Amino acid sequence: MKTIYVDNNATTRVAPEVVEEMTPYFSELYGNPSSMHFFGGQVQKKVEEARERVAALIGARPQEIIFTSCGTESDNAAIFSALQVAPEKRHVLTTRVEHPAVKNLVAQLKREGYRVSELPVDRHGLISMEEVSRAMTEDTAIVSVMWANNETGVLFPVEEIATLAKSRGVIFHTDAVQAVGKIPVNMAESQIDMLSLSGHKLHAPKGIGVLYVRRGTRFAPFVIGGHQEEGRRGGTENVPYIIGLGKACELAASNLEEKNLRVKSLRDKLENGLLKMIENSIINGDREQRLPNTSSISFEYVEGESILLKLSDKGICASSGSACTSGSLEPSHVLRAMGVPFTAAHGSIRFSLSSYNTEEEIDYILEVMPPIIEQLREISPFWKGAAARSCSAS
Ligand code: PLP
Repeated sequence: MKTIYVDNNATTRVAPEVVEEMTPYFSELYGNPSSMHFFGGQVQKKVEEARERVAALIGARPQEIIFTSCGTESDNAAIFSALQVAPEKRHVLTTRVEHPAVKNLVAQLKREGYRVSELPVDRHGLISMEEVSRAMTEDTAIVSVMWANNETGVLFPVEEIATLAKSRGVIFHTDAVQAVGKIPVNMAESQIDMLSLSGHKLHAPKGIGVLYVRRGTRFAPFVIGGHQEEGRRGGTENVPYIIGLGKACELAASNLEEKNLRVKSLRDKLENGLLKMIENSIINGDREQRLPNTSSISFEYVEGESILLKLSDKGICASSGSACTSGSLEPSHVLRAMGVPFTAAHGSIRFSLSSYNTEEEIDYILEVMPPIIEQLREISPFWKGAAARSCSAS
């Protein structure tokens, strides 16, 4: 059975060019970049080349790039740093739709006595700038707002928020794990102080991330140890993965616009086809302010997990907007924050594409989805109830 992978917001295939570039650094060029000898020195040079490639993708200076172990570590490092450098400030401002890397961290901070504000989103998943402005106070140590939501792809006005934060002297961090590599990001023309990214979302391996810290931003390390990363992150560098990430960033930077247009046209074909063929299907999230690769669709009156299993039987890998918590399928915190009705939130599926997807794959998904939904609705008591109500109403 052929695998059709449309779950690229979960993780991506490591590009073959990335694997090729990394391979020698496992078994042949295995020196420690901190070593004084030539063997370490040549590795050090390659790490710095990777730093330059990452910096180039996001319009940063190489010295502003700190390699970490993942996006989660980068998010944690940014928030902990802001709290360390201004210990008198006790307020953290974020949103209700952040990834658990931020959401669960701020929940922990709340338990420790920090004041945390999580801004609401509207039905389209968008936040209001007035509310951001109102919630930011003299006590705010950091504002952390994701650039792109991992479930819906909705984009937040991070540049605008960063400018506002700067004018109030507040540090601004963005979790750009889903944005970098998918849309243009340019730190040279931005007021963002800190930004997180993760290798495995852009065709590098899992287990490598970056925290960008703007020059001049006060920073306290999260992983305390050796002098690596200019004393900003202890621990011997994960050399092959850093080199892989550098290559992935170089690949992402080439023809970004062209690749985006193609991915967006595949996504739109999929989305429009499904909406047309399957009644009671709804897009979650603003249709304009959105990543080009992501589509979160609710198929009312069916369970997302049942759809996923049936898709999986056909070789199609997607994900749902529910999380299995203590035996019950709870709609995700993102869909709940958006006020998506229960009957729709339960049947939500996220398709997230990459430039490896093809038109034939989209055609195949469009062929198999309508009968899957029809079969599931036939056995859904909710659907039968809804159908009966609509008959008696008409
Ligand atoms: N932030 C967002 C928006 C994500 O989508 C993810 C991963 O799904 C993360 C953070 C965490 O990244 P990592 O898996 O590298 O820890």
